[in-house]
Amino acid sequence: MTDKRIFNFNAGPAALPLPVLEEIRSSFLNFNQSGMSITEISHRSSYFDDVINDAVDRTKRLLKLDNRFHVLFLQGGASFQFAMIPMNFLSENDTADYINTGTWSTKAIKEAQIQKKKYCVVASSEDKDFSYIPNNIKFSGNAKYVHMTSNNTIKGTQFQQFPDTNTVPIICDMSSDICSRPLDMDKFGLIYAGAQKNLGPSGTCMVIIRKDMLDAANTDLPTMLKYSTYAYKNSMYNTPPCFGIYTINLVLKWIEQEMGGLEKMEQYNIKKAGLLYDFIDTSSIYKTTVEKSSRSLMNVTFRLPSNELEKKFIAQATEKGFGGLKGHKSVGGCRASIYNAATMESITALIEFMESFEKENT
Ligand code: PLP
Repeated sequence: MTDKRIFNFNAGPAALPLPVLEEIRSSFLNFNQSGMSITEISHRSSYFDDVINDAVDRTKRLLKLDNRFHVLFLQGGASFQFAMIPMNFLSENDTADYINTGTWSTKAIKEAQIQKKKYCVVASSEDKDFSYIPNNIKFSGNAKYVHMTSNNTIKGTQFQQFPDTNTVPIICDMSSDICSRPLDMDKFGLIYAGAQKNLGPSGTCMVIIRKDMLDAANTDLPTMLKYSTYAYKNSMYNTPPCFGIYTINLVLKWIEQEMGGLEKMEQYNIKKAGLLYDFIDTSSIYKTTVEKSSRSLMNVTFRLPSNELEKKFIAQATEKGFGGLKGHKSVGGCRASIYNAATMESITALIEFMESFEKENT
């Protein structure tokens, strides 16, 4: 068997940086000279303490978090957060503002609705099939938080700037663009991200929560549904997703040491996405599906002139070693997910393939 790998454009679980996978492989049977694999080590051991503390410290360094913030690792993916957020932060007379920019925001709203919490959808791009990012949002002013999705994985839109919510904390689903750019943390009360796009394997969700949010959270909740349970036990009230946290730590190390931190990561992401969008803009058969000013640097969505041609494109791409280019089943079309780990080499190879496909089919 060879180690031949494809150009992986899957939306998630997505490609991980090759040096990270190689490090996992080389230490998999004997982690840190322990004589055990990371999947066999007790989470109560000093070996694992080092891993989780390192992951927390790296997150704090990369995102420049001060000591107002806790970094937590939970299970249940990002979808679990949709329910935990209203449960923890809304009491009987409280309201939350939600910005609806697609499938994931809609699911977050639904969880507040199920719990019969008061909420207000203060902006939505549903009128144009979620093909743009709304601006000039009128917030209700008395909300406990503003919930938003920074990058819309399915449609391929992304907030270029975060809205000004005055002093109301933003709670942001950053599942598909966390650590792809620096952030002004003063705006955020809570950030969450399912790991499987920019951070590591699925099954782990990173949560960054500000202490005042934690202090104001509801307390009459089951233990595992309270953020404080995770915050006061360094994410180890119960057995945490050890392999996920270990891999996240290696990915963060890669961003910090090999990619040069988040400012450089952002520049690299701008370059990669720019190359692909520039090519699509000059093409006669590929068309992007979202407004130019709302384009995502992480998920590039595009269509071909017919369903037949799209099928042929995806089949030929797969044959030539380009994986994951089929759009989400709810919207069809094509999508190249180019998260942090996507290399410039993979982008230029994809463009070359798209170019030759265009020549053969026009
Ligand atoms: N939020 C966003 C922006 C996503 O892209 C996804 C999954 O693709 C989710 C939430 C759901 O994540 P999970 O499957 O970890 O619950």
